[in-house]
Amino acid sequence: MNNISSENIIEIKGIKKCFDAFVAVEDFNLEVKKGEFVTFLGPSGCGKTTMLRMIAGFELPTEGHILLNGKDISSLPPNKRPINTVFQRYALFPHLNVFENIAFGLKMKIVEVTYKNKNGDTIIRKEKLSRTVIREKVKRALEIVDLEGFEKRDISTLSGGQQQRIAIARAIVNEPEILLLDEPLGALDLKMRKEMQLELKSMHEKLGITFIYVTHDQEEALTMSDKVVVMSDGMIQQVGTPEAIYNEPNNVFVADFIGESNIFDGKMYGNKMVHFCGAEFTCMDDLPVGSDVDVVVRPEDVEMTTMEKGQIKGTVRSVIFKGMHYEIAVQSGDNEILIKSTKSAVIGELIGLNIEPDGIHVIHSQTNINVY
Ligand code: ATP
Repeated sequence: MNNISSENIIEIKGIKKCFDAFVAVEDFNLEVKKGEFVTFLGPSGCGKTTMLRMIAGFELPTEGHILLNGKDISSLPPNKRPINTVFQRYALFPHLNVFENIAFGLKMKIVEVTYKNKNGDTIIRKEKLSRTVIREKVKRALEIVDLEGFEKRDISTLSGGQQQRIAIARAIVNEPEILLLDEPLGALDLKMRKEMQLELKSMHEKLGITFIYVTHDQEEALTMSDKVVVMSDGMIQQVGTPEAIYNEPNNVFVADFIGESNIFDGKMYGNKMVHFCGAEFTCMDDLPVGSDVDVVVRPEDVEMTTMEKGQIKGTVRSVIFKGMHYEIAVQSGDNEILIKSTKSAVIGELIGLNIEPDGIHVIHSQTNINVY
């Protein structure tokens, strides 16, 4: 099921955030569609959380605007935004049980109820939510996070994964338009993380609301997102689908950060022809002849063959069995080439390597702008 609308729910325009003289986020422009699962991905300290906190309203931008459904909310306090946040540390109340934790915000909530009196006049009264409504909403939130019947459990009796699901239930119970998730799986072990990744994706589909997710884990970002925003040093490096980010990296930073890449120095020497690792290759990219380029090749796109048949010739330096494949390092002149292959190799063996044109991505060295 795909719940993504063509309408933008969030527009981020020219955001800059400084802490004194330090620039944490700069020139940040992004559109998020209603129902999208968007992930901010980047190394520690690149400004992901700061950007998320500005969307939540916990930080104010130094420059720029954040629009929600077309209205500027840049200076609106957090509790006036239809946005909730789930943090890595679940921040549950340990002395309250599951029901009370989830219902906490609902009990505080005041809603406007419209009545007709005996004379037929319309009367608007401010009321708290009824206990029945609260019970129903908590039940539904627990169903979404797959913890039906957990209402009476003490928080201390729950596993880390269950506590995180309760934190998510609490964040969705008052039906926000946007859920922000700041490294919500960071405290879980690897197996639980993988399970929760799939569950979060299914929760996103069930809820149909917009998720903005922060992680430094590229696999997590690629697994869950409709759109990935790759960041470094407070700036966006690339925005795209997981496939586009992986297959068509915009620059060397993205190529290096997403998955594993071989990055070689190269030079264009003809129409869609590039020279690197001592050999000449046909590529898909058309850059001016003579341009210095960075050549990005994924390890799974390098094919091993006999030395005679290979465009590149080299010596096998290491072979590591990884379960589904072998990770093989080959030395060719000054270049070390990483290969992922289902075939093994012998250390010290002289072999040949070939790369098909669609496995070669060429990025202009000076501008770092590619030509996809
Ligand atoms: P991580 O993955 O480690 O959480 P991040 O990408 O989310 O990193 P931020 O937490 O947004 O990074 O921080 C970006 C930069 O801004 C960091 O250098 C951080 O030290 C700095 N920073 C964040 N909040 C403040 C603050 N309140 N005062 C001063 N500097 C801050």
